[in-house]
Amino acid sequence: MAEETIFSKIIRKEVPTEILYQDELVTAFRDIAPHAPTHILIIPNVLIPTVNDVEAEHELALGRLFTVARKLAADAGISESGYRLIMNCNRDSGQEVYHIHMHLLGGRPLGPLLA
Ligand code: C5P
Repeated sequence: MAEETIFSKIIRKEVPTEILYQDELVTAFRDIAPHAPTHILIIPNVLIPTVNDVEAEHELALGRLFTVARKLAADAGISESGYRLIMNCNRDSGQEVYHIHMHLLGGRPLGPLLA
């Protein structure tokens, strides 16, 4: 059994967080240390520590991350200007929270991916 992170508490609304979107599969909220005017985290409600732990049974929730990203980008008014979706995995990527999450970043030119 994987160890819970702060994100499980956010999903269960046990810590004060502005939830931008929540349904039976995913939850979205603003990153606490934003790297862009729009920086939202979209996470599955089920605890999956890293992409290495993804199984076929997670496909519905992980697909939902994209439809919610599309909606939240539209809500933020950045669909046309553009945005970046990032998911880190393990040490070399800089993953800090071991509950997989999609970063939705936009609202400014983001520069080259590997800058
Ligand atoms: O992909 P990575 O694991 O590095 O990203 C974790 C993100 O979670 C960071 O951007 C951090 O600011 C964010 N975070 C948060 N709220 C917390 C803890 C971390 O938004 N309570």
